[in-house]
Amino acid sequence: MRYVSTRATDHTTRAFSDILLEGLAPDGGLYLPVEYPQVGPDTLARWREVLAGEGYAALAFEVCSLFADDIPAGDLRAICDRAYAPEKFLDPAIVPVTRFADDMRLAHLSNGPSAAFKDMAMQLLGELFSYELARRGEHLTILGATSGDTGSAAEYALLGKPGIRVVMLSPADRMTPFQQAQMYSIDDPGIVNLAVEGVFDDCQDLVKAVNADAGFKQRHRVGAVNSINWARLMAQIVYYFAAWLQVSDGEPVSFAVPSGNFGNIAAGHIARQMGLPIANLVLATNENNVLDEFFRTGVYRIRGAGETHATSSPSMDISKASNFERFVADLLGRDGARVADLFGRELAETGRIDLSGEDRARFGFVSGSSSHADRLTEIRSAWEDSQVLIDPHTADAVHVTRQLLASGQVTGPVVVLETALPVKFSQTITEAIGIVPPRPDRFAGLEDLPRHVKRIPAHIGAVRQAIEGVPSHAG
Ligand SMILES: *Cc1c(COP(=O)(O)O)cnc(C)c1O
Repeated sequence: MRYVSTRATDHTTRAFSDILLEGLAPDGGLYLPVEYPQVGPDTLARWREVLAGEGYAALAFEVCSLFADDIPAGDLRAICDRAYAPEKFLDPAIVPVTRFADDMRLAHLSNGPSAAFKDMAMQLLGELFSYELARRGEHLTILGATSGDTGSAAEYALLGKPGIRVVMLSPADRMTPFQQAQMYSIDDPGIVNLAVEGVFDDCQDLVKAVNADAGFKQRHRVGAVNSINWARLMAQIVYYFAAWLQVSDGEPVSFAVPSGNFGNIAAGHIARQMGLPIANLVLATNENNVLDEFFRTGVYRIRGAGETHATSSPSMDISKASNFERFVADLLGRDGARVADLFGRELAETGRIDLSGEDRARFGFVSGSSSHADRLTEIRSAWEDSQVLIDPHTADAVHVTRQLLASGQVTGPVVVLETALPVKFSQTITEAIGIVPPRPDRFAGLEDLPRHVKRIPAHIGAVRQAIEGVPSHAG
């Protein structure tokens, strides 16, 4: 499989191993496969047996070998087996699907080491990165910014990997106590947590500033694991197939996805383009409803930090969806020149893109949003009616699904993607139902562990210094 930038105007393509360690393409676009491999009924029937017989890692290998075909099959299989080893997840099925209501199912994506769906991609990315770096004899310092879930998913996935070090910026005192403890309790010389005196946007600006210095970046081998990385999407495509195979005998099902950066649901879009029978993709947002607005009106209007609300589903507090350009590339039939003009110029100049004239209906998206009160109500009724505890992000998707089912815009069954364990957001759970969510044993006493974090002012000098000072892993 070859890859091309969303903004490409020539026929330059690249191999999977070449784009694996990269973020943006040199022209500022995002990488996509030249075409989506097609998966027909025969392959689905075979994959059903693979999943039932050999498990999730084997299915991951089947899907990934369509996209990462320049990695020898035996190596790729070993990578998938390590990434999705059952003992790393709370459930050996890795992504179990449970019944939630007559026409809703829950696909549990949050059984990994950091208790959020980002583990599903990060675990594979960690293995792929260390494999590729070893092959090249290189090392890399991953520099990232997190508002909560990405940082811990990345750190747990990259911990102890030869050749990889991590410098992670987080806004001081702004994550939940559980999220802080998850990251800051990691005791490893190759993992450096910097608590920045500022907000998430300050952290992201610092990362951008470091990356803008090409000389420094090259000298210190600075890389990223942000959500525009193609391999993260590839890893996420797998669970759409895994969930579908557990729910359907062949008939189409719909998926509902709590969305922020459009990464999770972009993988669903690609699975659908590959031929997986998905009826609708239900995109759910919180009060930060940029994407909901787009799918209702066809106009994508980004918002600044001042217009971005801090909500009870904080991992979705995003007003500029970094993966959205990939969908637009498909919507415009891969017209790279037009994508480049829209995202490289028009969006920067006007803050909006009008695509209302394009036929977006053919991609099956429907959307909605929730308020804080809606999420509390959903958490409460899931608990009272079904004895199921859901986190505020999942509650958002449940709320939107319930509304669209009631109005007939979607029909069941809808598989709602559960994106975090309630324990990560215990304050909101307590507000909704008056009890503290149960804590899996693996997280016992987390907040009491010693913390490894350095507080820094929101200044690039302090970040540079940290990167220069990270000790190298042996090997
Ligand atoms: C990251 C995240 C989301 C949003 O996913 P995107 O891929 O950014 O759309 C939703 N819920 C949780 C818990 C997350 O961590």
